[in-house]
Amino acid sequence: MHLPSMKQLLRQIRRYHVLAIESSCDDSCVALLERTRGETRIVDNMKKTLNSTAAGGVIPTSAQLHHQQNIAPLVAEMCRKHRFSPPELVAVTRGPGMVGSLSVGYDVAKGLSIAWGSKFIGVHHMLGHLLVSRMFDGLPQYPFVSLLVSGGHTMVVLSYSVLRHEILANTIDIAAGDALDKCAREIGIRGEMIGKQLELFLQQGDKAEGISFTMPTPLENKPGRKDICAFSFSSFVTGVKQSLARHGDVDDPTRRAMGDIIQEAIFTHITRKVCLALDQNKHKLAGVSSFVCSGGVGSNLRLRSMLEAEVSKKFSIEKFHFPDPSLCTDNAVMIGWAAIEVYESHGVTTGLDTSPIRKWPLQGWSESGIEGGLE
Ligand code: AMP
Ligand code: ZN
Repeated sequence: MHLPSMKQLLRQIRRYHVLAIESSCDDSCVALLERTRGETRIVDNMKKTLNSTAAGGVIPTSAQLHHQQNIAPLVAEMCRKHRFSPPELVAVTRGPGMVGSLSVGYDVAKGLSIAWGSKFIGVHHMLGHLLVSRMFDGLPQYPFVSLLVSGGHTMVVLSYSVLRHEILANTIDIAAGDALDKCAREIGIRGEMIGKQLELFLQQGDKAEGISFTMPTPLENKPGRKDICAFSFSSFVTGVKQSLARHGDVDDPTRRAMGDIIQEAIFTHITRKVCLALDQNKHKLAGVSSFVCSGGVGSNLRLRSMLEAEVSKKFSIEKFHFPDPSLCTDNAVMIGWAAIEVYESHGVTTGLDTSPIRKWPLQGWSESGIEGGLE
């Protein structure tokens, strides 16, 4: 068992605050965490999401403007609402993401760390999603497996330590959340977080029986493809458009039946490929007893139950971790928590002469994202 050094212990038993900022895509997020002798408390978790309904997708320049209009006011509100002495850490998403968006949060965070005399930590966005389940009780312990399924990513990751992560499967085209949003928009679902709106819509009434609405089975539809350890979602969008063209105006029960078919097809694909990734990497799973499902789509209850049923049937996973939905979608709490893990275990901080990283591979993130080496 790994025993902490005296320096690590000293960092772990102190009481301190962390101010965290996330601005990698279209959510302006600011959070304040309090760490007291190894226990973490969320003092506040603020978020303002860009409304892209009219645009039909996130436009980078609009997202940047949104952060310019919201990040600093959210920080000011946080300072007004809560009396806290200068935080020990200012944590901010450094990448991957849209550079214009990242830069807004990154520069505000640098300024705050100078003004407060706080340590500055630039965090890998995916590390936030992967580690957030560990925030309250340190569980799951390393090594553990995660499905990270969001609007921008779909991957299966084996995490050995805060620094070492191996991607076991990734998407070859768009992310699951992106596909779900596009498919749901085609059948008329509107609003923010369309995947979530679809989940709610499906719970709101009856579904029509026996409608003809076919969905593809990507990376399974030809001999040999079943064994390809990857996700693919773009054909679902084309499939929905083609199937929809065969229908005229549709009522709500019919749309509900279509939505159900879409969700089942996408989630079946995810579940099958997660099982394939675990199966093809069985030899690496010694000591792995926990499975984390994180990212916005990971808050879907149907996906959670499908994963738990299928994965536990085939593999010796004892515990499934599903973070609270507010911590599954993009948020600053997860960025603050990842900074705490990196800081307490390795004493690492980031220089003020650094900049955001648009494409930052998760595997080996510490080699390209920690200047000056590890403790
Ligand atoms: P993220 O990229 O992690 O912020 O997550 C955003 C994505 O998650 C979007 O594609 C949303 O539509 C999707 N999402 C959020 N909540 C749900 C839900 N309950 N069911 C399905 N998809 C969801
Ligand atoms: Zn994310």
